[in-house]
Amino acid sequence: MPKILVTGGAGYIGSVTTHYLLKRGFEVIVVDDLSRGHRENIALSGVAPANFHQMRLQQTGALTPLLSGVDAVVHFAAYIAVGESTREPALYYSNNVGGTLSLLEAMARQNVKRLVFSSTAAVYGDPVKVPIPEDARIGPVSPYGDSKAMVEKVLAALDRYRGLKNVTLRYFNACGAEPEANLGEAHDPETHLIPLLFKAAVTGEPIMIFGNDYPTSDGTCVRDYIHIGDLAAAHVAALDHLMGGGDSHAFNVGTGVGFTVMEVLKAVEKVTGKIVPYRIADRRDGDAAELVADSSQLRSKLKWEPKRSGLEEIVGDAWRYFEEMSAVKG
Ligand code: UDP
Repeated sequence: MPKILVTGGAGYIGSVTTHYLLKRGFEVIVVDDLSRGHRENIALSGVAPANFHQMRLQQTGALTPLLSGVDAVVHFAAYIAVGESTREPALYYSNNVGGTLSLLEAMARQNVKRLVFSSTAAVYGDPVKVPIPEDARIGPVSPYGDSKAMVEKVLAALDRYRGLKNVTLRYFNACGAEPEANLGEAHDPETHLIPLLFKAAVTGEPIMIFGNDYPTSDGTCVRDYIHIGDLAAAHVAALDHLMGGGDSHAFNVGTGVGFTVMEVLKAVEKVTGKIVPYRIADRRDGDAAELVADSSQLRSKLKWEPKRSGLEEIVGDAWRYFEEMSAVKG
């Protein structure tokens, strides 16, 4: 049974992927410092308490023994907020780049040669062509995107000179929830559109729509929303590829279909049966008008297809999770 080390397994995407890896029969060890993840996600994903290690990735010495006998690493642990990264750039470089360099050093010490890396559509900055092909120019416009692009460069060098086989997955907009494990999106503070639309619907406090003067059908930004289940499945496919001796590659993970902020708002109103109050605010720093994935290489090389990423299925799963969490919190 392959042994996989997952960093950031207490987070949103990491916990759902861990759940899928365990279902697939892999042995999984999770490392997470819990600075942004949630301890309860460990148990929900199905990881045994003994296989969870609360640890910062910068602790190379402590990390190294955990990598003994590991067949591959899936590396999620990172800070993810574009806005925060513009206010605290050093934090993003030290956590996202510094943490990864330490992980790569620990992997090298234990001769672990396979890695799946969480990257982002933010590495493309303002894309020249949409849908964005996987070989498009890299040009991040935020420290967050830049921190991911820097790691991608390091991985290319380690592949070339040290034989580290790696699959980079550039996520578009991860959303939805995994009802079978009761795992979903719960960032604190929340910055993502769908949970904030629910909050507005429930509290009556208007959500701010960041700009309605973009060159799109209704003036609001277009994004490619990908269900967390489909996104997690892409990681399993990437691992299978590497375990089968596959080569390094960067893939986009998205559906190829974009929705405006107002279209998502309407879907939330339909699913919840509630009015979503909103106000139009200024554009948010660092937002591109349109980010839609061309995932044709992921489809052809890894035989991946989105299966649950219809907008209403995404919003429906996310809404059930949101309601359950609200009931738990009271
Ligand atoms: N958005 C918005 N109001 C909010 C949060 C998000 O109008 O309170 C917009 C944001 O400008 C973007 C889209 O919703 O166009 C998705 O944003 P999110 O932060 O969810 O993901 P991102 O695209 O930044 O990864």
